[in-house]
Amino acid sequence: MQIGIDVGGTKIEGVLLDSTGTEILRKRIPTPKSRGYSAIISEIATLAKDLENSSGTKCTVGIGTPGTMLMSEGILKNSNTTCLINQPIVADLEQRLGKPIMIENDANCFTISESVDGAGRGFETVFGVIMGTGVGGGLVHQNRLLPGRLHIAGEWGHNILETDGPPCYCGNNGCVETFLSGPGFENDYVARGGIPGTSASVIVNLAAHGDQTAEEAVQALLKRFGSALATVINIFDPHVIVLGGGLSKIERLYTEGRTEVAKHVFWHDFDTPILRNKHGDSAGVRGAAQLWSPN
Ligand SMILES: [Zn+2]
Repeated sequence: MQIGIDVGGTKIEGVLLDSTGTEILRKRIPTPKSRGYSAIISEIATLAKDLENSSGTKCTVGIGTPGTMLMSEGILKNSNTTCLINQPIVADLEQRLGKPIMIENDANCFTISESVDGAGRGFETVFGVIMGTGVGGGLVHQNRLLPGRLHIAGEWGHNILETDGPPCYCGNNGCVETFLSGPGFENDYVARGGIPGTSASVIVNLAAHGDQTAEEAVQALLKRFGSALATVINIFDPHVIVLGGGLSKIERLYTEGRTEVAKHVFWHDFDTPILRNKHGDSAGVRGAAQLWSPN
């Protein structure tokens, strides 16, 4: 059986999957951020051992977490759980569990999950897109991750979309993430005269009820989605694109957004499916478990 553990800023979630991908057990604990790195490692190890004990058999363990992994050294280079940064997380967990583990960022886990038994099942190459607090992506070919030399393949969130755009935490200006993330979309709405603090779903709802400012923000989002995603398609030419993250719930992405993509793709009759994810918020933890046996 397979154990997947999703390490987030507020909770650590573990799932036990059987060989068919059926969820046997799920456990969730708060992330003990205030107690620091060793407490978090200890909780992850305890959770993995609990799930393995419940399974009655030996299990593989995969970990998913937001952030950037430096795979050669088994450390996280950036994470919103800052006490995890630059710590030997892989070595420490392997020592505590007495077995090798696999670890990937949440966008790669999402893509594995959607490829193995989600919306991208049966498609040769899947580009998984996260449009949530940040913008990320992952590329999976025949259920195997294509990480690239630097392990940044699919990180389209930091392609530059508009050179005079807002500053991004990565040091550049106008990255895709500064427009196509939840906060980016909300900031754009405010810049157009919208009310600060309005959530993405409320903006979409306002637009649906005829609010001019909200409609302008949504249309700008759809246009930017089109040009940004077309850039990725022209390079990877995936067989399917699966959207995840909070903004993936915006229906218009799959209709008008898709039309905007088609305008910019280097092909006269763009027919690549752009699909909503199947596993929703569970894709990350399921994909972490499925890092071990993608087939
Ligand atoms: Zn950036």
